[in-house]
Amino acid sequence: MTLRNVLFLVVAMILTVNGASADENIPDKYPTSILYDKPREVVPGVWSAIGATAPPTYENASHNNNLSFIITGKGVVVVNAGAAYKLAEALHEHIRKITKEPVKFVILENGQGHAMLGSRYWKEQGVPIIAHKDTAIEIEEHGHNSLDSMKRRIKEQADGSEVVAPDITFDERHVIELGDWQIEALNLGPAHSPGDTMVWLPKQKVVIAGDMAFHQRLLPLFDDTDTAGWIETWKKFEGLGATTVIPGHGDPTDYATVRRWTRDYLVYLRGKMRALIDEGGALEDSYKVDQSPYKHLHTFKELAARNAGRVFVEMEFD
Ligand SMILES: [Zn+2]
Repeated sequence: MTLRNVLFLVVAMILTVNGASADENIPDKYPTSILYDKPREVVPGVWSAIGATAPPTYENASHNNNLSFIITGKGVVVVNAGAAYKLAEALHEHIRKITKEPVKFVILENGQGHAMLGSRYWKEQGVPIIAHKDTAIEIEEHGHNSLDSMKRRIKEQADGSEVVAPDITFDERHVIELGDWQIEALNLGPAHSPGDTMVWLPKQKVVIAGDMAFHQRLLPLFDDTDTAGWIETWKKFEGLGATTVIPGHGDPTDYATVRRWTRDYLVYLRGKMRALIDEGGALEDSYKVDQSPYKHLHTFKELAARNAGRVFVEMEFD
């Protein structure tokens, strides 16, 4: 057996042991596609291509969030256009292998690049794109910056991508009925970024949570993230009563798991910052605050200190 074959076997064994679980250290799990990983069926009819739980890179082609779709029997609804034209195209190619049903709608989880920069592909297919009204504003205001940084990062893999405005916008709720399926695009309140949208399937009790919920990796906080609002909105999110949660990032799981790595982390970090501010601590001190219970999460080293600083600034004048 050649060394190459031995290596191949070892890699195959590691992949088998890990199943298809999220792992930031595996550069690509679906080498014949630009997608980071093959879509898998989470519950009957609901599929998701789980992205790398890592920062966006050339190797993962910025497929570092979950791209999902629902096959209803009367058409397919896609959640997220992905970070690039070619990602949207690859997802569609995979959908076509599974079903002959046409894609009817694309719903965006928010206005971040990896949710919406693949929209032009769907526009060309004549598929309407649905987004929250605040997401539409974010795309208009920041879409070109996202596109530029994505192009620098993934180079020729970005070909064909353009900023495209959504066709349908909604405020609190947009309902699609297809076949026996009720598909609800919901904004439950402030959380991770403007217009946070989740897709709720009440009959199946599945929620495609978008960036409301994180798993296996540390969540990132942005200047416009409202951590107090996120904790408040979380109650409504659990109030839906889902039995399956497809988070924005990481493997499908349940409320208890995403609560631990999302809501509980926000509560923990805000608690630490409250104590620091009360002691008269400064922004520099916030970066050193103990976050060790979350140290094993992917993207911890990239985000932990930055998150602390953001929460400090958010709470400083509370
Ligand atoms: Zn995200």
